[in-house]
Amino acid sequence: MSDFSNPIFHDETAAREWLEARIWPEGPTCPHCGTIDQATLMRGKSHRPGLYQCNSCREPFTVTVGTLYERSKIPLHKWLAATHLMMASKKGMSALEIGRLLGFSKKTAWFVCHRIRESLREPKASSEPMGGEGKTVEIDETFVGGKERNKHRSKRVPKAQGGAAMEPVFALVERGGQVRSHHVETVNAKTLGPIV
Ligand SMILES: [Zn+2]
Repeated sequence: MSDFSNPIFHDETAAREWLEARIWPEGPTCPHCGTIDQATLMRGKSHRPGLYQCNSCREPFTVTVGTLYERSKIPLHKWLAATHLMMASKKGMSALEIGRLLGFSKKTAWFVCHRIRESLREPKASSEPMGGEGKTVEIDETFVGGKERNKHRSKRVPKAQGGAAMEPVFALVERGGQVRSHHVETVNAKTLGPIV
């Protein structure tokens, strides 16, 4: 698990910038109105790092809106680390082990792992394909494993942004985004409310 040394697992800013580059290849994209690259980064101590305001609809947003990492006080790099640990271990690392590694309380560890697992399990619900034809298959292969898949994905994901080890994580983020409209709403209301 040498890839675990990647700064995106240890540094919140690195994690955010990595996710921004992945989710917003054309610049900050407003999740409320869809405007691309027309947002102002909110500076100053009263704002969370990475908080943008859309110049069009004036709504605030960050890169985690619409992903499985949204509305959480857990630092993004720990989310990415937990995701990576869950996906990198073949037998599946337990919530307790991940919690120990990342310094989570039992409750937090359970919540984090539960949310990641839910995102993994969610069947394709939306009729709108995220990345076009064939994308879903690709995402599924990511979780199943196998070597052939590496060839395909290495063509699509630039190595410069985190390397091959991060591809599964990003696939999960993409899927998490898709899950949101259909699924996270329920999860939030039922189980996540007090924690997030
Ligand atoms: Zn907007």
